[in-house]
Amino acid sequence: MTATAERHRVVIVGSGFGGLFAAKRLRRAAVDVTLIARTTHHLFQPLLYQVATGILSEGEIAPTTREILKRQRNARVLLGDVTEIDVAARTVASQAPTGTTLTPYDSLIVAAGSTQSYFGNDRFAEFAPGMKSIDDALELRGRIFDAFELAELASDPDEIDRWLTFVVVGAGATGVEMAGQISELARRTLPGDFRSIDPATARVVLLDAADAVLGNFGDKLSDKAFRQLRRIKVDVQLGATVVDLDATGIEVEDRDGTRRRIPSMCKIWAAGVAASPLGRQLAEQTGAATDRAGRVHVEPDCSLPGHPEVFVVGDMMAEQPGVAQVAIQAGRYAAGQIRRRTRGRAAGKPFAYYDKGSMATVSRFHAVASIKRLQFAGFIAWLMWLALHLFYIVGFKSRVTTLLHWSVSFVGRGRSERTTTQQQVYARRAIEQVGRT
Ligand SMILES: Cc1cc2nc3c(=O)[nH]c(=O)nc-3n(C[C@H](O)[C@H](O)[C@H](O)COP(=O)(O)OP(=O)(O)OC[C@H]3O[C@@H](n4cnc5c(N)ncnc54)[C@H](O)[C@@H]3O)c2cc1C
Repeated sequence: MTATAERHRVVIVGSGFGGLFAAKRLRRAAVDVTLIARTTHHLFQPLLYQVATGILSEGEIAPTTREILKRQRNARVLLGDVTEIDVAARTVASQAPTGTTLTPYDSLIVAAGSTQSYFGNDRFAEFAPGMKSIDDALELRGRIFDAFELAELASDPDEIDRWLTFVVVGAGATGVEMAGQISELARRTLPGDFRSIDPATARVVLLDAADAVLGNFGDKLSDKAFRQLRRIKVDVQLGATVVDLDATGIEVEDRDGTRRRIPSMCKIWAAGVAASPLGRQLAEQTGAATDRAGRVHVEPDCSLPGHPEVFVVGDMMAEQPGVAQVAIQAGRYAAGQIRRRTRGRAAGKPFAYYDKGSMATVSRFHAVASIKRLQFAGFIAWLMWLALHLFYIVGFKSRVTTLLHWSVSFVGRGRSERTTTQQQVYARRAIEQVGRT
């Protein structure tokens, strides 16, 4: 047996926050790391909305995983969609266009994240894409920018209104940021670009079944965010549940049972997540419980019952909020546990998430931030948001170009990344539907 064959084999599924930070933590460990992911990049999801609204390019928030781990000699990156994990045989099966790859492991870290949930109405996806991937963000960029293009072509006032009405479903951080940016795009960037329509008349509707925007930030910040949204002309409709969706509009039920329709060609889903289906697969094999969203109830050390060699981290964990810091900390923790074991050390303390706080931008120069007992809103919070996001963007090059693009959009009025490809020009599926109606 060669020396290489004797090294402990760690397989990591996913190149998001959990997977990447776990791999990096194993940098100096005497292990061989294989990171398998279905995309070739590490995605900084919190800034997807800026790709969708033309502020940033996809490369700035999605650097190639292979390049990030280039100097980590014990790590190898494989492209593949993991379809099956066999915890008894300790193998991971992944699919690529060329076939199936079977990768054996001694330790496994599963950080496959979450997908969009339409609460049982999967057909909504066709008309209201979510925002989980670069593909989603570029699809949305196509739909948003082309809604203005197609409004310019239309002559019927109702049709123009339909194209110029944007509905964002879900008033959590993603929905608020998205609605704020579409409104600023319409009112700050696009005026003057068109001859028939006035983009500033666009209506941006932010819907939620709950009673508050950014509910998890507490009443004070929620109220401040609500008022800022109103200031930038976002039409916030709370207590409004989406009951149906099609190509040309959205059906909403209000608290009093009234049903109404909002005609709109461009709808965006920012409500609800479900864990990767790999969670249920692992739970079935190990007897671990899952919650309604398919997230796995893990042991205190993030492993699975009876399988201390299998860790589940990040958005797939039932016990923790679905935020980047949970994934980063749990990924690092799982890697630390593996290092201890390979050195013959006793297991460390149970995983404890250290909540560093949360923040969301509402518009340019305006954010809300909740850090322990401290709450900030407005420009100070926005500066904090800016510094933190710059810090977490991977790579010096991306930080420089991101800062440049932010200056163009926030100090100036421009958007540097308005390009949509021809595939997106007719906003693909939305337009197919228009053709049918
Ligand atoms: C639009 C948006 C905005 C957000 N904003 C914030 C924010 O402001 N602050 C914050 O803290 N959090 C935010 N989050 C949440 C945060 O991004 C997630 O909590 C975090 O990314 C979870 O990390 P993860 O490693 O568990 O999963 P992810 O980062 O989602 O990574 C999952 C990885 O697994 C891969 N994968 C999935 N399935 C398979 C498979 N079958 N085979 C192979 N690979 C697979 C994916 O390609 C990806 O590489 C946001 C999320 C979204 C979608």
